[in-house]
Amino acid sequence: MSSLYIHVPFCRRKCPYCDFFSVAATPAHLEAYADLLAAQLRWVPREGFFHGPLATVFFGGGTPSLLSAQAVGAVLAAAAQYLGIAAQAEISLEANPGTLDPRTLSGYRAAGVNRLSLGVQSLDAESLQRLGRLHGPAEARRAVAEARAAGFDSLSLDLMFALPGQSLEGLERDIDAFLALEPDHLSCYGLSIEEHTSFHQACARGELLLPDEDTYAAAFNLVHARLTVAGFEHYEISNYARPGHFCRHNQVYWQRRPYLGIGAGAHSFRDRGWGERWAVEGDLEEFRRRLEAGRNPSDLLETFERQGAMAETLYLGLRTRAGVEIAEFQRRFGCTPAQAFPQALRRIASHLRPEPGRLCLGVDGWLLYDHLIEAFF
Ligand code: SF4
Repeated sequence: MSSLYIHVPFCRRKCPYCDFFSVAATPAHLEAYADLLAAQLRWVPREGFFHGPLATVFFGGGTPSLLSAQAVGAVLAAAAQYLGIAAQAEISLEANPGTLDPRTLSGYRAAGVNRLSLGVQSLDAESLQRLGRLHGPAEARRAVAEARAAGFDSLSLDLMFALPGQSLEGLERDIDAFLALEPDHLSCYGLSIEEHTSFHQACARGELLLPDEDTYAAAFNLVHARLTVAGFEHYEISNYARPGHFCRHNQVYWQRRPYLGIGAGAHSFRDRGWGERWAVEGDLEEFRRRLEAGRNPSDLLETFERQGAMAETLYLGLRTRAGVEIAEFQRRFGCTPAQAFPQALRRIASHLRPEPGRLCLGVDGWLLYDHLIEAFF
């Protein structure tokens, strides 16, 4: 069983906080891009390193919901033809509430998509406007209702916190509004200011009022407390799910299992040796040229040594509630995490949650995650 990530690097317009590779596109561009994705899939079996059937497929972006239902169906048909899709496969698509309508949603469902991830971010009109989103709260609520009506019984919503000017009371109101929509899964991210974004420039000019560290921590803890009381399992730093609704695709990344990424800007991970990371350049013209010339659009980015593979296994696993199974780590690498990284283990020791046979960070450790994992590099 294996996993496929399909990158769709198009957005209607750039959100002021986003540093992902994405460009504007006409419907003709989008149709042509779907043909290129199918062409890359046709090419994969010839290379022979990646085999189906696919247990998970994930359309991410960018804004995959700019693709028509026909285009999504055509890419999935190519995936089924060249790799095979398992009967119970999880097929996710990220969607922007401002780009959806009932016909497209029903079309996605009919094409085989069975999990929708809606980039709602907030249900507060002012916050959405400040984030430069295409939608307001009414469009987000309508998208949720229309997705349910189209037959999506696995629905994830993105929620952003630590927004400029957001109080804890405001965040609490937002969480309540999200819960009222009865999602099956929530991805919750604190706003981070990335270089080369409009928000970064606004910050430098002193125009954005951002929360300090203590307020950020209070917001993170508030999200955790409210969602766990509401019956969601906090199963990864940024992800919460009702029973049976963990994102199977993202677990592949955290467990450092192989996956194929297709499309301009997509990454792949191969389990050859201690692991290899491959990437398709985020250049649409080059992507087209290579495929038309019958060449592999991916380039080798990184070959892991044993030490790097051990470090990555640990810091990815520590993102999850299940953590890292010590016996499995030892079977794979011939030593325990404490033997491989004695200093790093000492550094995280006071943030570990007691769990026999496993290394798992507690919620306070997740809050310090970026700082704690520095010890593994
Ligand atoms: S829609 Fe998503 S990917 Fe596109 S610019 Fe906004 S945040 Fe970035």
